[in-house]
Formats: sequence, C-alpha cells, structure tokens
Amino acid sequence: MNSETNCVFCRIDKSEIEAQFLHTDEFCFAINDINPVSPVHLLVIPKFHYRNFKEILDDDPKLVSHLFSLSDQLSKAHRVDQTGFRLVINQGGDAGQEIEHFHMHLLAGQQLDFPSA
Ligand code: AMP
Repeated sequence: MNSETNCVFCRIDKSEIEAQFLHTDEFCFAINDINPVSPVHLLVIPKFHYRNFKEILDDDPKLVSHLFSLSDQLSKAHRVDQTGFRLVINQGGDAGQEIEHFHMHLLAGQQLDFPSA
C-alpha cells in the first residue's frame, strides 16, 4: 500500500489523524469534510496515494468505478439521492486542490449555487 508520510489522508487512513469514518473497506474510505461548505459534505478517498485523477484512472479504473458506487451508496445513506447532490474532483492549482491525494467531494443538503468545493 503506497502511503505518504506527510499526506493528511494517508495519515487519517493510518489513524494518525482523527476523522469521522462513514465507510471503510479494503480499497477506500469516506469521511466528513472538516470544513463543510454544505450540510452534507463528504470525502470519498482511495487508500492508495494517487496524487490525481490521471494517476488513478491510468492505474486502476475499476477503483474509480468503486468510488462512484460508494458515492451512490453514501447519497442514499444520507437521504440525498432524491433531492440531489454534486460530486466534485478538484484537480490542480486552478481548481484549488489543497490535498495532493485523489479524492471526491460529495456535496448536498441545500441548493448548490456555488461553483467550488
Ligand atoms: P481539495 O481542495 O479538493 O484538495 O479538498 C481538500 C478537502 O480536505 C478540503 O475540503 C478540506 O476541508 C478537507 N480536509 C482537510 N483536512 C481534513 C481533515 N483532517 N479531515 C477532514 N477533511 C479535511
């Protein structure tokens, strides 16, 4: 399992930083965002330290599919599958990616008028 010493998400996976786990399995986990921008703001995160979308897609497209399936399950668990939700991937500086470990944001629970996560 590739893991980076100073990566926040790798450290959460190793229980070195606390987080509220909503799901965990062999390949990924989901947590509440520490700084939510909507009533429901979850992060869906592969355990392997892929830095960005291209890396995960090139290496393991089935894992990308798994992350989307999990997002679907989480939207149902949070009862926002009917009201609507947004999945966001911030990639690179112009998108404001803060943590260089691939992740998806699941935003929901209000009208999502703003453009970023
Ligand atoms: P991004 O800008 O797409 O890289 O998003 C990174 C997200 O990680 C931000 O929404 C942060 O609020 C969130 N975040 C940073 N540190 C933590 C943490 N320790 N636990 C949960 N979420 C975090």
